[in-house]
Amino acid sequence: MKLKSLVRDIPDFPQPGIVFRDITTLLNNPQGLRHTIDTLAEQCQKQDLVPDYIVGMESRGFIFGTPLAYKLNVGFVPVRKPGKLPGAVHAVEYELEYGTDTLEIHQDALETGAKVLIVDDLIATGGTAKATADLLAKIGSQLLGFAFVIELTGLAGRKVLPDVPIISLMEY
Ligand code: 5GP
Repeated sequence: MKLKSLVRDIPDFPQPGIVFRDITTLLNNPQGLRHTIDTLAEQCQKQDLVPDYIVGMESRGFIFGTPLAYKLNVGFVPVRKPGKLPGAVHAVEYELEYGTDTLEIHQDALETGAKVLIVDDLIATGGTAKATADLLAKIGSQLLGFAFVIELTGLAGRKVLPDVPIISLMEY
């Protein structure tokens, strides 16, 4: 199945000059959604990357991370934007092109040493995924790897990530 044909390009979003890779057209296609999750799960199994927990970032990381966790029979842990999680959190601030952003995780979301796979829809500069890895380092998690549906290779995001395996289903 050609997954790329289900990703829609939206020029000049969110700002002029940026081509946004819109995955809503993949999500609303029943075969496309199933194939995406099944392929992520197959890759995890093949590369020995089945964790104790999938960690997914708000909000598109939730969409792919939760069904993948269900399929692999492991837990799911959300990483959220500030002020959304009700319990005690660890937070990490990271640089954006203009300004900074913060991500949070519940301090007791997973045990020290738990094996984790970080999942998001797309890696661009790698800032979001790196910040998530930093959060997990605060907890003492064992990071097995990352899985993305889409990788924008031109931005070389994987270079800023820790040296662990990276699954990506489509490259642009
Ligand atoms: P990074 O932190 O790697 O620069 O950006 C990745 C984050 O921004 C991901 O959480 C992703 O959801 C979002 N993102 C950036 N560009 C795109 C895009 O073209 N399409 C989609 N679907 N998400 C994007």
